[in-house]
Amino acid sequence: MKTVKEMKLNSKKVLIRCDFNVPMKDNKILDDTRILESLETIQYVLDQNAKVILLSHLGRVKSEEDLKTNSLKEVAKRLGELLQKEVIFIPKTRGEELEDAINNLKEKEILLVENTRFEDLEGKLESNNDLELGKYWASLGDVFINDAFGTIHRCHASNVGIASNLPHAIGFLVEKELKALEELKRPKKPFIVILGGSKVNDKVGIIKELVKKANHILIGGGMAFTFLLSEGFEVGNSLVDSENIDFCREILEKYPTKILLPIDVLTSKEFIESNHYKVKEINQIEDGEMGLDIGPKTVELYKSYLKDAKIVLWNGPLGVYEFEHYKKSTNEILNYLVDSNIKTILGGGDIVAAASNAKLKEKVYHASTGGGATLEFLEGKKLPGLEAMK
Ligand code: AMP
Repeated sequence: MKTVKEMKLNSKKVLIRCDFNVPMKDNKILDDTRILESLETIQYVLDQNAKVILLSHLGRVKSEEDLKTNSLKEVAKRLGELLQKEVIFIPKTRGEELEDAINNLKEKEILLVENTRFEDLEGKLESNNDLELGKYWASLGDVFINDAFGTIHRCHASNVGIASNLPHAIGFLVEKELKALEELKRPKKPFIVILGGSKVNDKVGIIKELVKKANHILIGGGMAFTFLLSEGFEVGNSLVDSENIDFCREILEKYPTKILLPIDVLTSKEFIESNHYKVKEINQIEDGEMGLDIGPKTVELYKSYLKDAKIVLWNGPLGVYEFEHYKKSTNEILNYLVDSNIKTILGGGDIVAAASNAKLKEKVYHASTGGGATLEFLEGKKLPGLEAMK
């Protein structure tokens, strides 16, 4: 697999697939981490006197309404500010306007194409890797650089499709992500995994895989309650993934000492920002209550398992970290890992956002930009976007 540094880019039209899938609200970017992460490759390619054409998706596009809320226009603006350079934005994914703009592009100029998933509106052309679409986008450039780690597990026209039709290489971000994740293939021991977030369903594959490699898996977040329910605990109105209760029971039976569950929780009757919560032992959750964060005793218990860890992988927050009162455990354990200098890899959007909010993201060993991609890589699955780069 080639890296961007091995490619001749001088005067070439270089297509770069970035991951600008940033959280947006009312047409405002809430967090520009993903744009920041892509700067290194973009700047490098510009410095090689190339003509730069950027492609990315933003959210999902299923209706005409999504076309209004998922434009990359704001991203072009922010990127221009960060690069201190004009970023030409073309509100089209194909056609004359786009082709003319690309043909008029000069060396060291940069252009952003509209959200690639606008091509999903009729026939899911982008997400189903329509061969003609991949060929068409490839025809717009001379070289393809894939730097979108967040979609590397997808077989889309804007990654696999273009790569199949042009000389290609990975960018610095993909290279950095792969290097950090490689360390988890044969991890130093003790290797501790922290898993939180909402659904068990998304994590079944990774639990099955990591339970073999990790010394312990510490469970928190909404997913803990499906495990607790499978053990016979009352969980009130807490989040439960009813299709995976049997999976939880079976894996706990198979690995009784490896998988750890919360021993106390913060509960509330309402899913709102409020300080009317109670700290409850795990066998005291009442009808109508829901667990929204792990409790202080669990935090101490989990710290005792993390104390000697050589490497930690963390996916998913331990509580509803979007609320001030339910982010405590996540922040406390993040602080503990940073202060103890424990090599920590954060994988997945929410835990990285939690670390970013707590100003700890720069202090951990690696914060991965790809949630699904990271999980699938660690499950040992082949990632189509990466395979196409080989
Ligand atoms: P995931 O996408 O599965 O990693 O889930 C992330 C989401 O899990 C975040 O939005 C959290 O608010 C949510 N979450 C964490 N803990 C809980 C909990 N105890 N109950 C409900 N949702 C939770």
